[in-house]
Amino acid sequence: MRKDGLKWTCTFPGCSHQELYKSSLSLHIRKHTEKLVFVFKLFKHTIYNICLIIQCCIV
Ligand SMILES: [Zn+2]
Repeated sequence: MRKDGLKWTCTFPGCSHQELYKSSLSLHIRKHTEKLVFVFKLFKHTIYNICLIIQCCIV
């Protein structure tokens, strides 16, 4: 996050959300990170499935 004049600006790519308070922006940024964690978990699950498929093919 970055201070832009009186407001705090979200520096997440593709987002230009502004909040007057740093604590409010922290809450906003948490939404981004939660989404990222979700995508990562989904990705990890996919990798796990691919590994299972590869293992089945080899054995
Ligand atoms: Zn944002």
